[in-house]
Amino acid sequence: MNRLSLFLFLFFISMVSFGQDYRWQQRVKYSMNIQMNTETHQLKGDQKLVYYNNSPDTLTKVYYHLFFNAFQPGSMMDVRSRNVPDPDKRIADRISKLNPDEIGYQHILSLKQDGKATTYKVEGTVLEVTLAKAILPKTKTTFEMSFEAQVPIQIRRSGRDNSEGIAYSMTQWYPKLAEYDFQGWHAYQYVAREFQGVWGDFDVNITIDPKFTIAGTGKLQNPEMIGHGYEKPGTTVKQSKGNLTWHFIAKDVIDFAWTADPDYTHDRKQVPNGPELHFFYQKNEKTAQTWKQMEEVAVKVFEYLNKNFGKYPFDTYSVIQGGDGGMEYPMCTLIMGEGSQAGLNGVMAHEVTHSWYQMTLASNEALYAWMDEGFTEFASEEALNSIFNEPVTHAGSYTNYFRLVKSGLQEPASMHSDHFNTNRAYNTAAYSIGSVFLQQLKYLIGTENFYKGMLRYYNTWKMKHPEPNDFLRVMEKTSGLQLHWYYQYWIQTTRHIDYAIDSVIIKDNSTLVELKRIGDFPMPIDLMITYKDGGKELFYIPMNELLGNKPIEDKSVRRTDAEVWPWVSPTYTLSIPRNVNAITKIEIDASQWMADVDRKNNVLDVTELKP
Ligand SMILES: [Zn+2]
Repeated sequence: MNRLSLFLFLFFISMVSFGQDYRWQQRVKYSMNIQMNTETHQLKGDQKLVYYNNSPDTLTKVYYHLFFNAFQPGSMMDVRSRNVPDPDKRIADRISKLNPDEIGYQHILSLKQDGKATTYKVEGTVLEVTLAKAILPKTKTTFEMSFEAQVPIQIRRSGRDNSEGIAYSMTQWYPKLAEYDFQGWHAYQYVAREFQGVWGDFDVNITIDPKFTIAGTGKLQNPEMIGHGYEKPGTTVKQSKGNLTWHFIAKDVIDFAWTADPDYTHDRKQVPNGPELHFFYQKNEKTAQTWKQMEEVAVKVFEYLNKNFGKYPFDTYSVIQGGDGGMEYPMCTLIMGEGSQAGLNGVMAHEVTHSWYQMTLASNEALYAWMDEGFTEFASEEALNSIFNEPVTHAGSYTNYFRLVKSGLQEPASMHSDHFNTNRAYNTAAYSIGSVFLQQLKYLIGTENFYKGMLRYYNTWKMKHPEPNDFLRVMEKTSGLQLHWYYQYWIQTTRHIDYAIDSVIIKDNSTLVELKRIGDFPMPIDLMITYKDGGKELFYIPMNELLGNKPIEDKSVRRTDAEVWPWVSPTYTLSIPRNVNAITKIEIDASQWMADVDRKNNVLDVTELKP
């Protein structure tokens, strides 16, 4: 090897490692010992955190989230809720009225890095730590912290005494290191919603009054000393006297949540080839029947998702009554438990599906809520549709989207979750626009490519933080079609799709259909022609940006591929080599998978045309 080729070789090697470096991710290893005082609703904690800096950067500061600090009068969450035009009713002005013994807080008592004192300051819900020594690239450091916290009255997600009487919903409850990635620090103030976590392992000991049952993330390590329904059936439980120390381990997760209540019923169910499911709820006339039926549905939801969207990666999962609606955490969810059967099934299915879209494919939900809530909404609906033999339409998501467009409140779905002007615009963008993004993708690349791509996306990006580009690239490689234009128009703007059949011109023995693009969002067009003899023919009009044609969707209908409709042209003329008398109906997108904001001008009944 001469010097030039050596140089080129080294250059090549550095390019390769640069390519891998782009997707480095940090890692954490938490060990915590928690003493829970159920008289004062306060806890004391020791936290040892080994932090692996896999980035190419030298870090001189780190940031932690102190979420409980949001539940204090005057916090950003409080001020935001009292100023947003459509506040979440669960928050409203409730934080501003909390008494000192009802607020939440996390106080840092000491924080050392590799045995040396750090300096730190607290700003709202963010702890900023100036390090004792810089963390060099590809090295690790160990933080040792002691802290105390007060569990707030349940306002939002976390807290004590929720509206259904669950004692403790312990979510966003410990000082949690913020994520640092190729975009820098994600140390957002806790204003309203959505979280981003560092991948890692948790080893947590919780000491509490023995009458409480604990449910949560991870796998209990000492079931034979704890009991509470965790023990192997038939074994004798040897509880020690006094408080019990529950030992949980969770590996490859982005967070750790738990609940505690003295009145939980604990049911267990096995998913064939899947996790063991645990259910925790207060049994009463509102829950006794609905939970039993929901447990059956939960098994089927796991089976459906395992098959269609990728294999659930952990061996346990818990559905827990707690919280204030439904909220997802690794290996568990907290849901309200006293609603209707359909409501309970729906919220369970939604939160379970987050184990795919957030707890395994951990996109930054603050920045890309549509990849989290939207994909979850989509897949959970398909699971329930399948279980209850209903057609898959995602009609509710389309309706919500159309209504938001009419309201004039729409903002780009790419907005940071906390910064939307209204909760409505956020909700519709995250859940409905995100869900329609996928259903409409079927329209663009075909159903078969779509589901292949969803599985490939899962298997390629599990246990990582996929970005929009990562999802798009998988879908592009699977379909052979280019999709970035679609992402940009649908997610990053508020442009709308609106196509119309403008006119029909009779020319000798052929029929000219003049189509018009009224909206400022170009799409390929499926134009379905129904003939008088009952036959159908699909004219597929491709659009340049896709760089190709989607595969034939329905082999029972003849498809003719027309010339490309260049996206710069507002009009297009399609020539159908049939006499107009042979045609009864012309329709743009009979599937209604394309989110055309005005569908009235999409159909033409040709028999009504006067010659
Ligand atoms: Zn959700």
